[in-house]
Amino acid sequence: MAKRDYYEILGISKNADASEIKKAYRKLAIKYHPDKNPDDPKAEEQFKEAAEAYEMLSNTEKKQRYDQFGHAGIDGQGGFGGGGHGGMNMDDIFSQFGDIFGGGGGGGFGRSQGRRTVKGTNLRVRLNLTLEEIVNGVEKKIKVNKLVQAEGVEYKTCSTCKGSGQVTRIVNSFLGQMQTAAACPTCSGTGQQIGKKPAGSDQNGMMRKEVVIPIEIPAGVEDGMQLNVRGKGNDAPGNGVAGDLLVVISEVEHESLKREGQNLHFDLYLNFADATLGTTAEIPVVGGNVKFKITAGTQSGKTLRLKGKGIPSLNGYGKGDILVHVNVWTPQNLSKEEQKTLESLQESENFAPNPSKKDKGFFDRVKDVFS
Ligand SMILES: [Zn+2]
Repeated sequence: MAKRDYYEILGISKNADASEIKKAYRKLAIKYHPDKNPDDPKAEEQFKEAAEAYEMLSNTEKKQRYDQFGHAGIDGQGGFGGGGHGGMNMDDIFSQFGDIFGGGGGGGFGRSQGRRTVKGTNLRVRLNLTLEEIVNGVEKKIKVNKLVQAEGVEYKTCSTCKGSGQVTRIVNSFLGQMQTAAACPTCSGTGQQIGKKPAGSDQNGMMRKEVVIPIEIPAGVEDGMQLNVRGKGNDAPGNGVAGDLLVVISEVEHESLKREGQNLHFDLYLNFADATLGTTAEIPVVGGNVKFKITAGTQSGKTLRLKGKGIPSLNGYGKGDILVHVNVWTPQNLSKEEQKTLESLQESENFAPNPSKKDKGFFDRVKDVFS
């Protein structure tokens, strides 16, 4: 079947402006609204046809394309493919109504949603993790006090709406008398009501219970991150679905490693002789200590990078590094003998500072820290 011309559908001329297009559509939407024409497939078809025409002609870009190429310019694009009105379902149409009739969602002129599914509320817990747990990932058992259906509770089909979740009413509106569907006041649209309510449960047959929930924490999580464990929150009454358990990660500070993203920072203090002569240093990392060489003549302020010793990325690709910041410790209390030894070296040319371009000066380093 050939598609009708959009202007023809709305009964307007090709020169109609935006307000005329809107006005024409509003008239048709009211005329063919399903609430006014229950069980009339022809009216529903015309309702959809008008909605599609409006959708196209109210959009400047689509209208231009249509004016130039007709249906050929639009079919198969933007989800309005083929004949019929496949791209536009009733929900799309009703969501358009906020615009057309003013007010959010059409102010009662939309369509009620049918039976409502009750969802339990979410639970939120804070979880402290050590650096070790973050690096390796860990399984935690979390104790929560959550709402569950009380033992022995029974639910039955709502007697007011017979389980449909809706009641129909005749209302007087600017369209004249019409039938509208509204959420059932007895069951709030869920289609169920409580049958047997055990002692100690609330009006929905729910009660609190302490439950231990095991959850898998992946390696690489970060302070403040929220993990969403679906369906482990508060249960819902009847055949509703449980809410989620939201786990907020809190990082316990490590005594010597500071985290920055996937990297870890460590402040290493070297004695003056070790820095001068070279040595082997050892620092704590997660899963044991790591040893590495300090070459002779290492300057204070140098940063060494231990590749791949940091935190794994959450998506499983790669690991961060440990950045070791070298601080050469200047001795403050010397014995007479040490004092004499150093005094004998004080005038040595080798002891005179001679920073090369490679060794960053103090101000450069400070800049690194604060930038
Ligand atoms: Zn009901």
